[in-house]
Amino acid sequence: MTLQEFIIQHEVGIRLSFFFGVFALMALWEIAAPCRVLTVSKTLRWRNNIGLVVLNSIILRLLFPAAAVGMAVFAQQQNWGIFNYVQSPLPVAIIASVIALDFIIYLQHVMVHAVPALWRLHRVHHADPDYDVTTGARFHPIEIILSMLIKFAVIVVLGPPVVAVVIFEVLLNAMAMFNHGNVRLPTTLDKILRSLLVTPDMHRVHHSVEDDEANSNFGFNLSLWDRLFGTYQDQPRHGHQGMRIGIHKYHDPKQVSTLPAMLALPFRGKISGYVINRRQWDKKHEE
Ligand SMILES: [Zn+2]
Ligand SMILES: [Zn+2]
Repeated sequence: MTLQEFIIQHEVGIRLSFFFGVFALMALWEIAAPCRVLTVSKTLRWRNNIGLVVLNSIILRLLFPAAAVGMAVFAQQQNWGIFNYVQSPLPVAIIASVIALDFIIYLQHVMVHAVPALWRLHRVHHADPDYDVTTGARFHPIEIILSMLIKFAVIVVLGPPVVAVVIFEVLLNAMAMFNHGNVRLPTTLDKILRSLLVTPDMHRVHHSVEDDEANSNFGFNLSLWDRLFGTYQDQPRHGHQGMRIGIHKYHDPKQVSTLPAMLALPFRGKISGYVINRRQWDKKHEE
């Protein structure tokens, strides 16, 4: 059996082992050396954030039992997509597919910040008043479904090797838990790692209540996209201890920290002056 066959056959086991392994490592690291003091009790946060993860997993399994890997197998059988059409060495196809999928995730993340109705869904992720390993998986079910449909479309066009999809799913999941960690790497290590990957300090800037900081550092795996497309911000203005995490106006734990409140959050309030709706010219920002 080749490595590829092994990975495809043991896909669920591999994904679950990485999930629980990285989760346990990050959870222990956060207990041993937390970067910031949590504002809401860990028990309340974890019960509800993990509750949402379980709910999302059930919904995904029911709607798309074969998931992204199933779609990649289907695309391969139909000979759909660039890599099923153009013959290229497997390692090249795997690396190119993983990078391409990561780029799409970056673009999708920019899109859910820019489009007002999609921001309503995505603000469930940002309304977490704290930042820890469970924040990394805290997304509204509708955003999860939308992500999966976008992934399906990309797989059909790209035709990635099935193993590349498994690798990407495992990497994205592991990196999301790592870069949402309430932890801090030594400054030099953070700098070195950041030249290639997204670190906890880099993504934490994205969870600031300040609009300009929240609209930066959209990447999940490679730090390249933010640098390349002009959305990179090195550090939060008020430092990692002084910055406020979450969303302006939504800070009451009853509004943002319980599972029913998270599910209802996209439907609360008016579409206000957020980003693309804020069309008045502000003299202050003139350069
Ligand atoms: Zn975001
Ligand atoms: Zn995040």
